[in-house]
Amino acid sequence: NIIRIPERGQRGMDSSNAHWAQRARKVLTGPQSNLAPPLPITPIFAERSDGHRIFDVEGRDYIDLALTMGPLIFGHGNPRWIAAVEAQLLKLPSPLPGQFYSPLEVELGERMTSAIPCAELVKYGLSGSEVVQLVFRLARAFTNRPYVLRFDGHYHGWMDSVLGGSLNPDPNLPPHPIDLPGTAGGFNTSTAGRSPVALLDQYKIEWNDVDALEAVLERYGDKIALVHMEPIMCNFGGCPPRPGYLEAVRELCNRHGVLLCFDEVITGFRVDLGGAQKVFGVTPDLATYGKAIAAGLPFAAVAGRADVMGLLSDRRVVGAGTFNCFPLGMAAAIATFDLLAEDDGVWFRNVDRIQTRFRQALREMAAAYGHDDLFLQGPRGQIYVDFLKAQVAHSPAELEAADAARRGAFRLICMEEGVSIGAGSRIYISGTMSDEDVAESLNRLNKVFARLPKP
Ligand code: PLP
Repeated sequence: NIIRIPERGQRGMDSSNAHWAQRARKVLTGPQSNLAPPLPITPIFAERSDGHRIFDVEGRDYIDLALTMGPLIFGHGNPRWIAAVEAQLLKLPSPLPGQFYSPLEVELGERMTSAIPCAELVKYGLSGSEVVQLVFRLARAFTNRPYVLRFDGHYHGWMDSVLGGSLNPDPNLPPHPIDLPGTAGGFNTSTAGRSPVALLDQYKIEWNDVDALEAVLERYGDKIALVHMEPIMCNFGGCPPRPGYLEAVRELCNRHGVLLCFDEVITGFRVDLGGAQKVFGVTPDLATYGKAIAAGLPFAAVAGRADVMGLLSDRRVVGAGTFNCFPLGMAAAIATFDLLAEDDGVWFRNVDRIQTRFRQALREMAAAYGHDDLFLQGPRGQIYVDFLKAQVAHSPAELEAADAARRGAFRLICMEEGVSIGAGSRIYISGTMSDEDVAESLNRLNKVFARLPKP
């Protein structure tokens, strides 16, 4: 039986979102990234994108303030980025077998080691989830210790070892993560099918709490290979580190011979060319990169100390992968780096200007429509939007009092008004947004606030 598949754009064919949703139900499992629950609306099928807009099959446009989950730091179809990728597509697009190097690997490595404080050697991959796993392996091999220490509310991908796991509320037990129903690790994450032993070589504690870290390291430090954290808790409330916290973490790791990794999958190539470690002046031993590194193509990297990364050079640690040497991703990453470095970092200055404008406007709108508890925080390039009476939050616990129902309604109404924001109520700011993009975004966000149910 040959199934007749209608051609896209075929005359007379119904190309509505509802039509595609009906066909999708028969062949798909749902959204391709299914960590966050889907919005309670007819799925929207994107057909093309341009600049900072995504167009659906009905021709409706959505302003992309999610930067498609973070990577699209120059928006869609930046001409310089496209030119670099297109040239590579015609020259040598596909991954190379293991006996070849690409000059692109060297050129990108030179750029990364020049800009990122911890980067002495680099290794490439394709996704953030994957390179995080490589860091765990490197740390265990280097220290010959079994445990990884992670933090509540931080996200490091969907693999077994980092999926879910809440703080263990039993003070008599070591801080092994467990799954409390509904709130695994601060996220409403399903963990069915995860290996039953996946969390047994992990500890998990509160972030931003020096005493908690000191206590665990004093007691279990000689078993812990790695302290792994987002240097800014971008995945949960955009929480900043408390003043002095990262410095204290660095010092404690040194004292106990534990490696420190900053997961810069979100902060890398966004808060600074050298990442959050450059901004805070705290240098980890290792760092992971993904998302913005190639501004829209799948690409990722680990950067770190030569003695640790050297375990890959002598093949004591394996980091295999058919697509690791992916020329298109590397060409995109080199173009991304060069665009970010241009004019002494004009892209970053543009982000600051646009982000300030957004924050001001959001506050004005909230005040005008009676939401005097609007809560905004986040590093350069990211605004976390919530409803909470506080100036700043440093942990999931401090965000607990926020109005989750209004936060959810905000994201849903955004979509209805043609604004796509990130899951977890995050607006991402790009330094290539035009004045018109900003004005139209604010115009639509104003309509969102007008419709948002009052507290
Ligand atoms: N680490 C951090 C900090 C992330 O935010 C993410 C994804 O959101 C990951 C790792 C996983 O990256 P990926 O989705 O590319 O596998």
